[in-house]
Amino acid sequence: MNLVYNYHLCKLCGQSAAAPKFKLKQMSLYVCADCDFHYIDALDDYPAEQPESLLTANAQKYIEAQLPQNGAQLRKNIEFVKQHVVLPGTHCLDIGSGAGQFPAFLQEEGAQPQGIEPQQIFREFARQKYNLELRRERVEDPYWQEKFSSSFDLITLWDTLEHVNFPAETLVGAYTLLKPGGYLFLDTPSRDSLFYRASVWSYRLSLGSKPALLNRLYSPKPYRHKQIFTAAQLRQLLEKCGLTVLGPSSVHRTSNKLVVACRKDPL
Ligand SMILES: [Zn+2]
Repeated sequence: MNLVYNYHLCKLCGQSAAAPKFKLKQMSLYVCADCDFHYIDALDDYPAEQPESLLTANAQKYIEAQLPQNGAQLRKNIEFVKQHVVLPGTHCLDIGSGAGQFPAFLQEEGAQPQGIEPQQIFREFARQKYNLELRRERVEDPYWQEKFSSSFDLITLWDTLEHVNFPAETLVGAYTLLKPGGYLFLDTPSRDSLFYRASVWSYRLSLGSKPALLNRLYSPKPYRHKQIFTAAQLRQLLEKCGLTVLGPSSVHRTSNKLVVACRKDPL
């Protein structure tokens, strides 16, 4: 079930200037005439906690099997963070924790992590595997905004911003929770990538008959990619939220992703 939203209202700039420009599988890709943001017409529901466990033995095996590959990427992310932040004793919030691997790494480094994860199955996994209590409340929800204002030295969003319903709200919410001088790190797919540009060309040259590549970048299914930023759009959004962008990562060598460090100004 999708939430009701007027998709003509651009999710990035807020102008009533977006229209469906690409017809994809069970979704349309909207393009804003004002800021050129790309997003699909699907939003995630906010499911209530189920009383029974969703973590079957098979699901557990499946999640376990993904850990090594995800872990290799998250290790790089930890290295990137450590170029800017001394982790022992720092209060951290990881938004979109998945199976809890990144907060577990933070814990190993002596930091005090909390995490947000909308999928109950991952929260159960993190509890069982890492003894971590991830929260289901979104960062913009009262749970965080009322109790944790200016509380965190570090906030991370690894492969999260493309998944959330409203990325601007997510970043504004994160900014409020950062201490002055606190750091925010994120990575997200890049719309400047060759793959994305080739996907758009392929669609246009085929007059819409070959949307296959774009269909690999977006999905209307729950917790999948809803929007993809150019480097310039991401930078503008971060700065609009009050963050100072420190620059891209020297640890990551990929043109398919935007990997960025930012900081809330010290008092
Ligand atoms: Zn716009």
